[in-house]
Amino acid sequence: MVRAYVALGANLGDAAVALRQAVKAIGRLPLTEVRQPSSLYKTAPLDTDSGGESPASGADYLNAVVEIDTGLSAPDLLNHLQQIEQQAGRERPYRNAPRTLDLDLLLYGNGRIESARLTLPHPRMAQRAFVLVPLAEIAPDLVGAAQLAAVAHQRIERLSRLD
Ligand code: ATP
Ligand code: CA
Ligand code: CA
Repeated sequence: MVRAYVALGANLGDAAVALRQAVKAIGRLPLTEVRQPSSLYKTAPLDTDSGGESPASGADYLNAVVEIDTGLSAPDLLNHLQQIEQQAGRERPYRNAPRTLDLDLLLYGNGRIESARLTLPHPRMAQRAFVLVPLAEIAPDLVGAAQLAAVAHQRIERLSRLD
């Protein structure tokens, strides 16, 4: 089994329902168990591509991170995560478009991958409070104080427990 972390985000439809259902769906994946979900967080849409931070269009996001143990390979896990996105009605009309569900694989053990379909660790996680803050809640050893300080100006509000 490999310890892995998945970031969840949604800002279309009932995002809280989508995130809760996604955690359940991840728990039903073959060879996979959810160890713990973070709390649910609310963040303003932000374009954090290429180090920039311009505001993006759409409603506020709900975000969370889940810690899992999995016997799936990283590419297989990504395939399954993308199937869960599809089942939630995910469409990709344009980059950073509002979405019913986004599941990003943040970390897969100590795995480092750079393929066309999968980069690990997730290349933009260090720029995003909506990833680092929930990750630090459930895995404080994985997120340094300096990393959190670097995104401390991004507004993020903890809402409630996810489970
Ligand atoms: P971002 O990656 O900046 O968060 P996004 O989540 O909106 O953007 P998507 O349209 O959901 O982007 O995904 C685009 C592609 O990214 C996917 O088809 C997938 O193959 C690829 N990808 C590469 N590395 C990862 C990863 N670690 N987790 C999820 N998808 C990844
Ligand atoms: Ca994403
Ligand atoms: Ca994604």
